[in-house]
Amino acid sequence: MNYQQQIKHPLWQKKRLEVLEDRGFRCQECGANDEELHVHHPLYKRGAMIWEYTKEELESLCHRCHKNAHELDEKIKKELAVCKSKRLVLEYIRSLNTVAVTQDIPAIAASDDYVKDEGDYEDIEQILKEHPSMSHADAFFYRMKHLMGGAE
Ligand SMILES: [Zn+2]
Ligand SMILES: [Zn+2]
Repeated sequence: MNYQQQIKHPLWQKKRLEVLEDRGFRCQECGANDEELHVHHPLYKRGAMIWEYTKEELESLCHRCHKNAHELDEKIKKELAVCKSKRLVLEYIRSLNTVAVTQDIPAIAASDDYVKDEGDYEDIEQILKEHPSMSHADAFFYRMKHLMGGAE
């Protein structure tokens, strides 16, 4: 079943409504309740139908916040694609508990020879100092959000 067919499937329509009801028909990012709402998958699980997610795994977003979420994903993928720190990339991918990212970055999926570049760590180490409970991957994500001014 392709994506277009899944979108029209009654089980997705049901799941979608459940998520919107659960969030009180508001954008969970900006709180808007007078905008068109989308139900967003922050992560895709390999082989799962789009409705085979718990409510907690889905987000209700207004069209503007939804667009931002996808743009952020794209930026992160681009950053990961050029990141020379193998450890950081692998930890980040592991934290996502998904292979979706690696599929988009074949170089990373296949690589065993990423060079460890200490320069990549400086700002990450700083973030970890300020937020001791964060994992490296979280710090990486946090830095990405900051770089594009989306951290709030
Ligand atoms: Zn919003
Ligand atoms: Zn989405």
